[in-house]
Amino acid sequence: MSHYCGRFAPTPSGPLHFGSLVAALGSFLDARHAGGQWLLRIEDIDPPRCPPSASDTILRQLEAFGLHWDGPIRYQRERGDAYQQALIRLCDLGLVYPCSCSRRQWRDHPIYPGWCRTGAYAMHKPQAWRLRSDLGLRPAVWCDRLYGEQTFDPAELGDVILKRKDGLWAYQLAVVVDDADQGVSDVVRGADLLDNTPWQRQLQHALGLPGPRYLHLPLIIGSDGQKLSKQNLAPALPYDEEQARPLLHRALLALDQPVEDAQRQAPVAEQLAIAIERWDSERLQPVAQRDC
Ligand code: GLU
Repeated sequence: MSHYCGRFAPTPSGPLHFGSLVAALGSFLDARHAGGQWLLRIEDIDPPRCPPSASDTILRQLEAFGLHWDGPIRYQRERGDAYQQALIRLCDLGLVYPCSCSRRQWRDHPIYPGWCRTGAYAMHKPQAWRLRSDLGLRPAVWCDRLYGEQTFDPAELGDVILKRKDGLWAYQLAVVVDDADQGVSDVVRGADLLDNTPWQRQLQHALGLPGPRYLHLPLIIGSDGQKLSKQNLAPALPYDEEQARPLLHRALLALDQPVEDAQRQAPVAEQLAIAIERWDSERLQPVAQRDC
């Protein structure tokens, strides 16, 4: 396998839950099976949403599950200058514009209708920066390793915000700049981000950055039929290796990997060593998995 660099990029808005374990584990196994690197990037660009202790909690949870990352951790809160440079470049290319509209103003439209594209923004009001999804790469086409060929017209998804009115950076720009800067060759993450990928492809194309391979993992559905997420108050993962063992076993099952019942209580290092060797992304089923 040629150079492989993967990453796990949690937003530290709370502790990891089972759904995030499956995403972390899938990207970890895919990287380690390929003999590649696995990086950890903390996507803490939105401080009001990220309690200060959440990053440390996430690190302790990953360690309990034996998911050891390579090299220094990247914190996005330190990366404002790089995002600003990318925004300036997009500005020079005429692909972004300031927008003073409030969500309330366009609430009767399914997506932001692009009113400020022509420079009609109100100068006295705070401005966000939006990407011109009607220009640049259209449609965005790529091949997802699980979901197959994907074709989206970014213009149908709307002019996404890259920098918010309050000056905070938005996910789409930060993720593209950092994946390229860190040399990420393979993005493995939850299928909830599949429909964010068109904007990211458009940004990579505009900024002349390489496009990584993508593997979106099936989502985990809780017993209530909802996606497992912090918002749905999915229980936090433990910090304790012994408690982590059966959950790791369950996460491997959720990733459709072959596991023996006898391994359920085996130390995480032992379970992971076997799982790395056996990892086969072709086994993944593109349907949401029920967390049982
Ligand atoms: N920070 C994002 C999240 O926690 C994931 C970003 C990514 O993997 O591209 O949902």
